[in-house]
Amino acid sequence: MVCLLPLSAFAGGHAHHRDFIDGDIIVKLKGKDGSNSANAFIGKAVSMKGMRLRGSWRGLNMHHMHIRAGDDMQARLNEMNSDPAVEFAEPNYLMQAQSTGPETQPQSLADLQAQGGAGGGNNAFVNQSTYAPIQYLNSWAHETGGLSAPIVAVVDTGISAGHSVFTQSQVIWVNPGESGVDGSGHSKTSNGIDDDSNGYIDDVSGWNFVSGSNNPNDDNGHGTHVSGIVLGTTTDIFASPVATAKIKIMPLKFLNASGSGSTSDAVNAIYYATNNGARVISNSWGGGGFSNSLLQAISYAYSHNVVFAAAAGNSASNNDASPTYPANYNVPNVISVAATYDNDGLASFSNYGAQTVHLGSPGYGILSTYPGNTYVAESGTSMATPFVAGTAALMVRENPALTSYQIKTLLLAGLNSDASLTGITTTGGRLNVLNSILASQTTSGAGSQPVYDLSANERSPAAIEATQGAGCGRVSYEILKRSADDDSSGPPTSLAKDLNFFFLLVLLTSPIVLAVILRRKSGVNARRHERYQIDSQVRVRVGDRELVGSVSTISLGGVQLNTDAWLERGGMVSMTIASPDGSGEVHVQGKVVWSEEKKHYGVQFAEAHETALAAISRWTQSLLKA
Ligand code: CA
Repeated sequence: MVCLLPLSAFAGGHAHHRDFIDGDIIVKLKGKDGSNSANAFIGKAVSMKGMRLRGSWRGLNMHHMHIRAGDDMQARLNEMNSDPAVEFAEPNYLMQAQSTGPETQPQSLADLQAQGGAGGGNNAFVNQSTYAPIQYLNSWAHETGGLSAPIVAVVDTGISAGHSVFTQSQVIWVNPGESGVDGSGHSKTSNGIDDDSNGYIDDVSGWNFVSGSNNPNDDNGHGTHVSGIVLGTTTDIFASPVATAKIKIMPLKFLNASGSGSTSDAVNAIYYATNNGARVISNSWGGGGFSNSLLQAISYAYSHNVVFAAAAGNSASNNDASPTYPANYNVPNVISVAATYDNDGLASFSNYGAQTVHLGSPGYGILSTYPGNTYVAESGTSMATPFVAGTAALMVRENPALTSYQIKTLLLAGLNSDASLTGITTTGGRLNVLNSILASQTTSGAGSQPVYDLSANERSPAAIEATQGAGCGRVSYEILKRSADDDSSGPPTSLAKDLNFFFLLVLLTSPIVLAVILRRKSGVNARRHERYQIDSQVRVRVGDRELVGSVSTISLGGVQLNTDAWLERGGMVSMTIASPDGSGEVHVQGKVVWSEEKKHYGVQFAEAHETALAAISRWTQSLLKA
């Protein structure tokens, strides 16, 4: 399918076959993150082109930018893609959940039991006669050793965490770095501080990338259904009470209430999962076509030993001929999953592909959890995929030393053959949980995986345009994107120099940064401290982003911060503020409490050492009151 990206498409943010967020660009720069050339590129884009930096994936030198209102997106993309500093630049494409929605009215467990449809193990969940492995596993006769619970990240619409199935099984991941009590005796879960410095404040049980909050509540239902299936591979979800889970689910919401989400948020979620301990990612979404940045993220997951299970799609089409992404990314950790009926046989809606789709898994009329403490039946490769993800997690549980590639290989080696899948999948088989478990117990974990040549799989913009898949839906809001690359938890030694260079560049080219705008806010933000005018430079760290800007007022309670970057209200920042005479600096943490024109921010100090406050107090003796 040929689909060029004409000018008119960008004006509305809706190409005929492919949607994207209007004005958003994801750009990967050549060379090292934080290098002079990378900083110079971003500095120039911000100061001369009026672009905003929304976030960076530092480990990849990949950046999420937004063009100035009214600018020509295609022209900016072309400019970037012809810049020698750029590896690629592409629109921020949109994707969708891969299911057709609930097929039954939401029913309570009591409703189901009254109908005799549940409560007798997972035979309501998938047909017991053809899916016996789950029944075997329910007894855990095959479990060996005292095992830890591997984390499956469900990258989807979120989770209805209050569902009794999830509360009883305690399946939802709790971030150890954001639980317990901090140094001040406050709960880390709700202290407004990024306790584990992963770029996310109070991310105690996953993240909502759509709203930029720590509450990944499911306002759609898809993610809750998928999560119930992941759990269902390890525990009878119709038991009462449900037994303690053998695995953990990390809910990462990047699809909105209508099931649509952006590439940048998908990349954020995959990064988060990889950097925060997930060994498996369940991906029941697609339709965005090829994206170099998503390929980067999945390769990043592979290089960190994370399995990536992906829905093959529900178009009844051949993925060899018309690829569905992310299932079609040719990275060794990707498992592309078709849907079968519960008595086997390829489901009529399921995509397939002799070269590209790996296996079948039940995906028809699957009864699973739904918001409102209910259950619904749904069909789709969305439902088939979490069975595979849950099984992969059980394999990790049995043998944590297995690489993601070994897990994929062993899982695909132990399938039940299904004639309907022969010649239209790479294996001709349907998932067999028990075989996978047994194989993982008897295989030694290897230290290495096949080398994956990412650059050989990257595509030029022209090649992407020529191979676009279908996708509809659109998000109309735009939020701050942050990344969480633990590999860059500390700034490189040359960073200060680079930042000075960056700052100088911005200083020379952008009068905005120097503008001192005095402002008073009354009522809403009552101040306890005298404010003073100041004109100092500041380096700001937000998650793993490094920004520069100026401070125009200061008090013992906070500062007005001016920067061209977009900061999220409520977000936490670390600031290094230069003294008025430039001879010293202080380090403080603060929370963004107000913003104006997305350039001027009020930051309230959250954590400031006494020595920092003493220094600020000294500075103010030579400053005028604001
Ligand atoms: Ca955190």
